[in-house]
Amino acid sequence: MQYGLENILGHDKVAEHFRRALRRGRLVGPLLFVGPSGIGKRRFAFALAKALLCKDHNDELNACGTCESCKLFSGAPNVTDWNFDTGKFLPPHVDLYYAAKPAERSEFPLDLIVGDKEHRGKSGLIYNISRTAFLGHRKIAVINDADYFSDEAANALLKTLEEPPNDSVLILIGTSTAKQLPTIRSRCQIIRFAPLPGDILAALLLERQMVSSPEQARRLAEQSGGSIERAMELIDGNVEELRSSIIKTLSPQHFDAVRFAAEINSYIDAKGKEAEHRRPRLQLVLQISAEFFRNRMRTAEVAEISARRLERTLEAAEHLERNANFPVIVEAWAMDTARA
Ligand SMILES: [Zn+2]
Repeated sequence: MQYGLENILGHDKVAEHFRRALRRGRLVGPLLFVGPSGIGKRRFAFALAKALLCKDHNDELNACGTCESCKLFSGAPNVTDWNFDTGKFLPPHVDLYYAAKPAERSEFPLDLIVGDKEHRGKSGLIYNISRTAFLGHRKIAVINDADYFSDEAANALLKTLEEPPNDSVLILIGTSTAKQLPTIRSRCQIIRFAPLPGDILAALLLERQMVSSPEQARRLAEQSGGSIERAMELIDGNVEELRSSIIKTLSPQHFDAVRFAAEINSYIDAKGKEAEHRRPRLQLVLQISAEFFRNRMRTAEVAEISARRLERTLEAAEHLERNANFPVIVEAWAMDTARA
């Protein structure tokens, strides 16, 4: 199984809360998840959604992995690979809805809640969640960036929060209750998430290959206050900038491998020539590229080429484990990928 509540690390108390609530027979009201950013609230929300949508989950809220609903999830890559922030993110399940503030906007757009001007009330989150569940069980809406609701957007949601449609679960995600409008706060059950414990964060950094040694993982975990996002910033202040530049280069079918390799090499050298600095930066580049190719495999016209490029990228990540000749790895990877 790729993920479910049983695979969530570091939020045992919250998980136990939901198990108890379910054993008592009901989940109370819309949920508002709060806690520092980058500690896994959204990941938890999707894991909970998977368990709740499963037609055969047990009392421990573990998804069965084999029912019609679970199968929809298992076709999707692991939640840690999902890029939620493209504005085009589609959850893998027909009864799961997701909305978030686009990165370039300063407020949460009203359109995402009530539909755009041409489709007011006929699209958007409120409309979606009011429909009958496609699989006839439950519907779940995950709304990120609740910190950024405008009065308008919050007002539009109030009625739905007060009387959620049958068999629906709404999960709002923000960083603190202080950032929510009182009207929202008072209508939700507040679930508090604590920063990730150091040992768990260190394990996650290693698992995602963001660091090159257990020592580095431990050091970063200490410095980042239990937030994986903060740890990424410490590795590099510009992860998002790097991500968009890689995506921009790799999006066309053909790209200039020599130029790409030069750009990547200058990025990995930017914090110093020591392997300790260069390895995690190259790991990050390969991780972002692999994630990009994996997403592209869902588009029929480029599925095959993306699969070959993904395979070559994973190979480069393996080479990196055993080898410190970074420019050679980068150049060979860029050439082979461009030709794939
Ligand atoms: Zn299931």
